[in-house]
Amino acid sequence: MSEKYRHSVFLKHEKCSGCVNCIKQCPTEAIRVRQGKAMISEERCIDCGECIRACPNLAKAVVTDGLSAIERFPYKVALVPPSFYGQFKKSTTICHVHAALRHLGFDHIMDVAFAAEVVSEKIKEILHKKNNDAPLISSACPAVVRLIQVKFPGLISQLIPLESPMELAGRLAKIYAARETGLAPEQIGTFFLTPCSAKASAVKNLLHQTDCSVDGVISVAEIFPKIRGLNNPDIDFKFMVAPGVRGIKWSMAGGEQAAVQAANYLTVDGIRNVQKLLDEVDMNRLQGIDFLELQACDGGCVGGFLNIQSRFQARVQLRWLMKEQGSVSAQLERATPFSAEELEVKAQIVVPESISAGAFAPGLEEAIKIMKQYDLVLEQLPGLDCGSCGSPTCKALAEDVALNKALEIDCIFKLREKIMLLADEVLVLSKILPPSLNRAAKDKAKESD
Ligand code: SF4
Ligand code: SF4
Repeated sequence: MSEKYRHSVFLKHEKCSGCVNCIKQCPTEAIRVRQGKAMISEERCIDCGECIRACPNLAKAVVTDGLSAIERFPYKVALVPPSFYGQFKKSTTICHVHAALRHLGFDHIMDVAFAAEVVSEKIKEILHKKNNDAPLISSACPAVVRLIQVKFPGLISQLIPLESPMELAGRLAKIYAARETGLAPEQIGTFFLTPCSAKASAVKNLLHQTDCSVDGVISVAEIFPKIRGLNNPDIDFKFMVAPGVRGIKWSMAGGEQAAVQAANYLTVDGIRNVQKLLDEVDMNRLQGIDFLELQACDGGCVGGFLNIQSRFQARVQLRWLMKEQGSVSAQLERATPFSAEELEVKAQIVVPESISAGAFAPGLEEAIKIMKQYDLVLEQLPGLDCGSCGSPTCKALAEDVALNKALEIDCIFKLREKIMLLADEVLVLSKILPPSLNRAAKDKAKESD
């Protein structure tokens, strides 16, 4: 699994100064600085983008498709997440944004918010049938899904086994456009406008499913500056299906829960908070909860670092839009152009084998040896977690030393200690002269003669 996984987050080698700012921000301790450059462990990285936010040198970046990628297809559909509408100033309606996207070369627009509404209904059903105490975990945020795979494999079975709204939107867009144009589904290109790196990775990898209906990802940061024609809403343009307020809310933390209406739930956003909560769930310390809505970005998808607006400003715009859209949707024909069969949400998450964070090597004997070495090294380290060694914490350095990936003297305190010992030794040695040069010893020898 991990060999096939293609990460969207990568290092621009030439820009990295080895400042170690990023290593402490990584929730899975996936980064080390070695020989003055950051190195990302493919096995541990969950593509959350925290290191991109932390890097002062812009040395970390995300691979996405350029706008020109849409030209590969005769018919192009933009899959617009509701968070995208939060990037515009108040009074910009969904019709304005659709018109601007068509101006950029898209033939049609599919609102992911609609797919979110469909997925919400399915989650409701699943929650209704749930008959055990273990909380079910939303699988909408790919960074959270991968965090569970990497650090909490015991919780994989608690992920809700459904395709994400983005994937459902891609599938429905192809069905709709194929029907309208007579083109084959593979001639219809579906492009998700992504607010984050995790969704970019989810498209590049078959993380959850056997196939993916999204053909590419274009970052909001790339597309936003190219947007023109916002002053000219195409009000005659036919929606594939108009997004409703419930779906638009999914872009903000708490929106998914508001749509599925679980009786006992928790909504947690921000990767650190999510990690702390998952620690508790893993230790079975969380009682009386049926549903966990977890999002890696602060504030939900509006907090994605590829967005243009702050999550606070985006919320203001979205609140206005929901009010506006509430009345627009009420006027519009909300009957969908899709059959019940087409709207069936696929229960096809292929739960992958867990991806071990790989602390200790396989084989019991070897593992015991490494653990002993780890304990010994850790005991010697100062416990300051300063990061100067290039590993994020003293524990991580102890692990690296035990695995022969670092030296104990990579720790500047251990190095200093070693230099002081050596200096003492040198001092002692410097005072010992060979008898041929040692006058005092010679004089003493003479006196005794
Ligand atoms: S993307 Fe996230 S998990 Fe990957 S290296 Fe950066 S901070 Fe760590
Ligand atoms: S934050 Fe990380 S990637 Fe950026 S320059 Fe410093 S060490 Fe390199």
